[in-house]
Amino acid sequence: MEAKDIYIRGKVQGVGFRPFVYRIARRYGLKGFVRNETTGVYIHIEGENGKINNFIESIEGEKPTPSNIVDIEIKKTEFKNFIDFFIDFSQGKHEKFTFVSPDIATCDRCLEELFNPDDRRYKFPFINCTNCGPRFTITFDVPYDRRNTTMNEFEMCDICKAEYSNPESRRFHAQPNCCFDCGPTLILLNNKMENIEGEPIRMAAKFIREGYIVGIKGLGGYHLACNAKNNEAVKRLRSTKKRGNKPFGMMASIEMIKKECEVLADEERVLRLPAAPIVLMKKREDSTISDFVAPGQSRLGFMLPYTPIHHLLIKEVDLPLVMTSFNIADEPIEYNDENVGQHSDLYDYLLTHNRKIYIRADDSVISTLNGEVYPIRRSRGFVPDPIELPFKSDIDILGIGGDLKNTFCLIKRNYAFLSQYIGDMGLLKTEEAYKENLEHFKHIFDIRPEIIVSDLHPGYHSVSMAEKMQGVKLIKVQHHKAHFASTLADNFYGGDAIGVIFDGTGYGEDGNIWGGEFFVGSLENIERVAHLPYIPLPGGDMAVIEPWRYAISLLYYAFGDNFSLPIHLEKRNNQFILQMIKNSINSPLTSSMGRLFEGISALVGVCSDNTFEGEAAMKLESIAHETDGMYNFYYDGNNLDIKDLIIGISNDIKKKEQASVISYRFHRSISEIVYRIVSSISKKTGIKTVALGGGVFQNLLLMKLTLERLENKGYNVLIHRNIPTNDGGLSLGQAVMGYFINKGGK
Ligand code: ZN
Ligand code: ZN
Ligand code: FE
Repeated sequence: MEAKDIYIRGKVQGVGFRPFVYRIARRYGLKGFVRNETTGVYIHIEGENGKINNFIESIEGEKPTPSNIVDIEIKKTEFKNFIDFFIDFSQGKHEKFTFVSPDIATCDRCLEELFNPDDRRYKFPFINCTNCGPRFTITFDVPYDRRNTTMNEFEMCDICKAEYSNPESRRFHAQPNCCFDCGPTLILLNNKMENIEGEPIRMAAKFIREGYIVGIKGLGGYHLACNAKNNEAVKRLRSTKKRGNKPFGMMASIEMIKKECEVLADEERVLRLPAAPIVLMKKREDSTISDFVAPGQSRLGFMLPYTPIHHLLIKEVDLPLVMTSFNIADEPIEYNDENVGQHSDLYDYLLTHNRKIYIRADDSVISTLNGEVYPIRRSRGFVPDPIELPFKSDIDILGIGGDLKNTFCLIKRNYAFLSQYIGDMGLLKTEEAYKENLEHFKHIFDIRPEIIVSDLHPGYHSVSMAEKMQGVKLIKVQHHKAHFASTLADNFYGGDAIGVIFDGTGYGEDGNIWGGEFFVGSLENIERVAHLPYIPLPGGDMAVIEPWRYAISLLYYAFGDNFSLPIHLEKRNNQFILQMIKNSINSPLTSSMGRLFEGISALVGVCSDNTFEGEAAMKLESIAHETDGMYNFYYDGNNLDIKDLIIGISNDIKKKEQASVISYRFHRSISEIVYRIVSSISKKTGIKTVALGGGVFQNLLLMKLTLERLENKGYNVLIHRNIPTNDGGLSLGQAVMGYFINKGGK
């Protein structure tokens, strides 16, 4: 007989871990107790040595699906002769540092009950258990206990209490446990906040079928929903939200999704993850989704229902729904009941309830690449799971993020906690959301940053925010170097690599606008070794909104004054743009790959004006159709010249070659440029590992062609797998670079 103390760290709270430990201990007839501590789970276990070993093996081998064990520490301790195994609800006094579980989609067993007429929770819109339900978005403090969640306002009835206290029950210490008698209430209101008679789900479904827009309270905020097949409803939603052409996310059952998209097995697996993200999938040719849902896009974004309310609604309405964040344009998702009440212009009806959302979280968006997750937006369902780092920091660090698709990143020890998606900085509401989230993360993970890391850009709102923060050391790092570091850190990679960072725009160390960059180095030291040629960007930020301006600049770069305009650009103010370029008026130089994609998109006539960030590039990718051939370029081992590429494209346009053909050839040419430059750098440095990062690599065609080209030549290629390759992943790279710069690196 012996006794052991076991400390388990990781995602072990709010995921049914203590009852699981309890059942395993009972199975082996062991005595002692388990308790949540602010550092994780602590077990005191007594019994036969062999059985204790079995117990530990079973804990590791059978742990609940949503849990994640990062570290188990086992120590011999004093035998106290317990006569039972129990769950101790008192708190240990350790350093406050625990993982909070992300929100988890309704599990299969809860779904069975939800649709079983004999179950006491038949059609109960708030059904949950220790394996599913709200977590991060209702938790305001640690440890994860009902009193520290917004469920603290609901007193459990006797039956719920009995489940909650019974270790054999699936609802044993399920913190949001409740039922019809004791839980929140679902109601349907009109936009004057008046109650609608009738069963709320049935009535909401009826109104959606009739073409109305219904606001729906979800986990991390409200959605705006309408029938995704109804042109008028979708168009109206687009205009009230001031959305431009930016695609909407949708929600539907798996059967419905398969009617609209070609769903690969891996995509179905990602759809069904406990995080229930939006997955971007190829649109079927016979899809009947309204063209206004994702204008000009070859892929559609769907998620499965992930709360009982969603399940009930989708079943009742029997239609795919647009499910877009409740906000105007680029403002943060709305989660506050009162604010939603004041925005009654955005919806006709409101399906809502009285369980408060404590912290907002948008839906996550995922692409799959070669069968694996490739995140576009990391938010609900993934946050606040930390990213493990290949080093351990002795001080806390904040990477403040960029101005677009902002997230922040807090480093504590060997963990990086990335915030949920916050949005574009510069709006008062976004900055308020930022501060709310930052304070919350600092509080629940007990993080006190001494170093703040920001971008270099003199005009960034995030930079001026960082400059205003008191009592901390500020370190500024170059945008694309941060992207490179982010790709390395996302891969737990501490060695040397060649970095290929293709991005929209970022402020360069020479004052030019970078974005088509080749680096060499590691997390500790990064050097720029090559880039796309500098070409004037007439109008600066105006050219980001109007890619046709850069198309003119590309033509002038390739041909000088002797170029002929494609017909669709003839009516634009070309002479004015040329004067700007020739006289260097408001025409900063750029090496941006994002701008090149958009310039080509405008040149080919696919998209000359962006209504949202990256639109022209996305449309160019969307139309590409596999074909042979590619365009020439000049590279001598030092300098890259793409005049021949522009000339080749112009010739194809003159030959009336299809845009789908030109697009594909252009993509292939870029992957060839990557290969040529990488192989030259590799010859000089001996490095065979390549990291691909930056927003342009959201382009899956470019990514696939580049991966293929590099891997066939034996390179080890690192790409993002946990966090987005766009600016949503920038803050991780900033924080990591800050750590090494502070240590005395470069
Ligand atoms: Zn469940
Ligand atoms: Zn109850
Ligand atoms: Fe970027």
